Amino acid sequence: MPDTSSISSRFSGRLRRAGVAVVHWFDTDYAPGGAEKIRTAPDKVDWMRCIPFLILHAGCLGVIWTGWSPVAVGFAVAFYFVRMFAVTGIYHRYFSHKTYTTSRAGQFFLALWGGTAVQPGPLWWAYHHRHHHQHSDDEEDAHSPHVHGFWWSHIGWITSRRNFPTDYSKVRDLAKFPELVLLNRFDTIVPILTGVAVWGLGWLLEVHAPQLGVTKWQMLWWGFFVSTTALFHGTSCINSMAHLMGRRRFETADDSRNSLVLALITLGEGWHNNHHRYMSSTRNGFYWWEIDPTYYGLKLLSWTGLIWGLKPVPQAVLDEGQRAEHAASVAAAQRAAVHHGDYSYATLKRVVPTAAALAVATATAAQITIPKKADGPAVHKDVTELAHELAQNQSPPAPLPSLRAAP
Ligand SMILES: [Zn+2]
Ligand SMILES: [Zn+2]
Repeated sequence: MPDTSSISSRFSGRLRRAGVAVVHWFDTDYAPGGAEKIRTAPDKVDWMRCIPFLILHAGCLGVIWTGWSPVAVGFAVAFYFVRMFAVTGIYHRYFSHKTYTTSRAGQFFLALWGGTAVQPGPLWWAYHHRHHHQHSDDEEDAHSPHVHGFWWSHIGWITSRRNFPTDYSKVRDLAKFPELVLLNRFDTIVPILTGVAVWGLGWLLEVHAPQLGVTKWQMLWWGFFVSTTALFHGTSCINSMAHLMGRRRFETADDSRNSLVLALITLGEGWHNNHHRYMSSTRNGFYWWEIDPTYYGLKLLSWTGLIWGLKPVPQAVLDEGQRAEHAASVAAAQRAAVHHGDYSYATLKRVVPTAAALAVATATAAQITIPKKADGPAVHKDVTELAHELAQNQSPPAPLPSLRAAP
């Protein structure tokens, strides 16, 4: 007979955890047992807490119901890049690394823009990213594909209970601004307002520009759900793939890599090996040929006066990169030479015996006294025939197994 009191306590425990998760949807700092206890717990997926994340993905299926229109899909693509810039140019290059300066009002505006990306709050993002730089590809790294595998680094780590709280002690420079802490704590406010605004824009277009053929629900599914889900996975490619795919220019302590493909998806974040070598620069593409749209956008913003003090890559780091490229090209040339040498040797092994045989034949023939025309019919004899005659009368220089008499 099951113990009814233990069933009841298990049920009430689950109910309490579900209640805590629901509160967490809106107040990310709510931690009855203390945030430190949660942060030091083993990795475990918190399904209740992840329901909004699952709804975000499920919402993409809404396009089956509404279909598509060029305006809705075009908006989704444009909104992807506008908010990718928010992640890379704001959450990453400002809040995480402070690679440029802005005013307090400008900082708040940037935090609001960053919030539209629906990737928790700016302090949470900066805390986790700084932690990644401190522990890249070691056991402490929350999203190293080498330690935890591809899928955990891509999506699993963000569902783990221990990774939800923000460690404010690691972002003291940001935590001293209460307006930023507020946005970080209630990190669903900006995303909900963003979704409502996109739906509202669709409603306006549907009512006032019906010739465009776009509806408010199309705008919501495409412009918010599909665009935001793609944005999450595009950003996550840096966590999962930028330590697996591409070239390593700098011998950093981690396995970060440079990839043009990832740079195009993420507006310049694909130059991840560069970034791990020198994270304080505003640009991740260190050289002119390394496309870095985030840097171009930040440069444009600096002309408006919203931001300033963009930090360059030090000349010593650029020189180091050039030396590394030179050494890599020399090593590649040497590998090619060795390969080419092998080919020549193989070819020589086939050619030399034949060439040697021909040389000996020539030497043999040279020893033959060609009869003069005055000597009569012998002048018409084949040279090889003469060589055989000579062999019968004299000792030839060497036997030639591969030399056959002409027919
Ligand atoms: Zn990295
Ligand atoms: Zn970084």
